[in-house]
Amino acid sequence: SGDVASRIDYVFKVVLIGDSAVGKSQILSRFARNEFSLDSKATIGVEFQTRTLVIEHKSVKAQIWDTAGQERYRAVTSAYYRGAVGAMLVYDITRRQSFEHIPRWLEELRSHADKNIVIMLVGNKTDLEKQRAVSTEDAKEFAEKEGLFFLETSALNASNVESAFLTVLTEIFNVVN
Ligand code: GDP
Ligand code: MG
Repeated sequence: SGDVASRIDYVFKVVLIGDSAVGKSQILSRFARNEFSLDSKATIGVEFQTRTLVIEHKSVKAQIWDTAGQERYRAVTSAYYRGAVGAMLVYDITRRQSFEHIPRWLEELRSHADKNIVIMLVGNKTDLEKQRAVSTEDAKEFAEKEGLFFLETSALNASNVESAFLTVLTEIFNVVN
C-alpha cells in the first residue's frame, strides 16, 4: 500500500569501517550526494546518510553509517554494527598500515555483526597510483581467503564507488530474497 513514488520496499544498513583518513567519509559523500572534498574534516556528528535506489524493480533505501572519529581499535561501539546487513572494509592503497589493520577490523566486524553480513574489501585512492603501497594481487588474495568481495575505488574521481555499493546492496538483496 501507499503511493508508488514514495514506497520503500527495503532498508539496508551498511557500515563503513577502517582506519582514519582512508576515505570512508568521502566514499559515502560520493555515493550519497555525488560530492567530494579534498580537505574533509574528521567526521563529526553525522551518523548516516541514505540513498534510495531500485534493485530488481524494488525500492531499496541504503542507510550508510559512517564512523564519527572512533577509528581507534575497539572504539567503535556495538550499536554501530547493530542491524547491519552490509559492511565496507576500507583501506588506503597508498598506506600499507591501513591494509595491515584490515584483519583486526574484520575480526571486530565478525565478533559484533550478524554472521550473514555481506562484506566488501575496498582499496581506496586509486587516483594516487604512483604512491601505491598495496598491490591489487595481495588484496585480492586476502579477500578470496576471507570470502569477501573486493574492489579498488577512488572517491576523488568516482571510480568504482557506485559499483562497490551496488555489488553489496544487490548481494544483500539476493540474500533476503
Ligand atoms: P576517513 O577518516 O576514513 O573518513 O577519511 P576522509 O573521507 O575524511 O578522507 C581523508 C582524506 O583523504 C581527505 O583529505 C580526503 O579528501 C582524502 N581522500 C578521500 N578519498 C580520496 C581519494 O579517493 N583520493 C584522494 N586522492 N584523496 C582522497
Ligand atoms: Mg570520516
